[in-house]
Amino acid sequence: MTTIAFIGVGNMGGPMARNLVKAGEGVTAFDLSAAVLEPVVAAGAAKAASVKEAVKDADVVITMLPAGQHVRAVYLEDGILGAAKKGALVVDSSTIDVDSARAVHAAAEKAGFDFLDAPVSGGTGGAEAASLAFMCGGSEKAFRRAEPILQKMGKRIVHAGGAGAGQAAKICNNMLLAISMIGTCEAFVLGEKLGLEPQKLFDIMSAASGQCWSLTTYCPVPGPVPTSPANRGYTGGFAAALMLKDLKLSQAAAQSTGAATPLGAEAAQLYSLFANQGRANMDFSCIIEMLRGIR
Ligand code: NAD
Repeated sequence: MTTIAFIGVGNMGGPMARNLVKAGEGVTAFDLSAAVLEPVVAAGAAKAASVKEAVKDADVVITMLPAGQHVRAVYLEDGILGAAKKGALVVDSSTIDVDSARAVHAAAEKAGFDFLDAPVSGGTGGAEAASLAFMCGGSEKAFRRAEPILQKMGKRIVHAGGAGAGQAAKICNNMLLAISMIGTCEAFVLGEKLGLEPQKLFDIMSAASGQCWSLTTYCPVPGPVPTSPANRGYTGGFAAALMLKDLKLSQAAAQSTGAATPLGAEAAQLYSLFANQGRANMDFSCIIEMLRGIR
């Protein structure tokens, strides 16, 4: 049994920590919110009163926090790096900016820890089902140590490269996803104006060169893919606010590296408009309604 400290047990971290408990690991959890801590404790985790208390005896520390500032605070100020056991493996699975990930990497290495940035895709459904994809950045040694633990929360564990590579891969993927979703929505909106049945258009595009994940797995119109959020009022999927956060990260990275991402920039603008219509909590495929001009 490995002793694992889990910091941040919200929508994603909660089910991830519960899966570690289910797999027989000894989990000690901490979150600023008592409400999200309770279900994890009820599932069998020990409750810690602070970050420092959670990490002091842990062989592995995992964090799942909202954004870069929280990760910097918990590692550099609240003291994971000062309080964790010598030789512990430390993994941050939050989706954060590459610069913060690299800053935490450097500080962790200096303090003598193996550190991995390991953001996930798969959403809350994947977190519950232990089928997440982990994109990992860090040394080969840190990756080899983390792999068996991550396998208890996910199905696909990929070593993307050195420090920050996991975060880099995550924002590239999500920028592509946003662009392909908007493109898919535009095709359906144009098809509707041209009098095409959505199902017919789906049947044609999904077997033609327009085929993509946003169309065939996450179809933004109800009907063709029964499991897509379009069939449940665009709820319970990947919130537009989170997509906007990832697009902003992609645009900050594009600026700092000088990469040209004009469609990524346009996607960020469109999701910002959509979120400002009071729809930040809707699934990101709901942007089709904005494109139709319906509120
Ligand atoms: P969440 O807000 O539900 O959970 C984050 C938790 O961190 C909260 O419970 C909060 O109280 C806690 N927290 C914040 N600061 C803390 C501190 N100093 N000490 C201890 N706990 C602290 O968010 P989430 O949906 O679980 O997302 C977590 C991360 O995963 C984000 O970076 C998000 O972008 C990423 N992500 C989310 C999804 C998704 O579908 N929700 C999918 C992929 C990736």
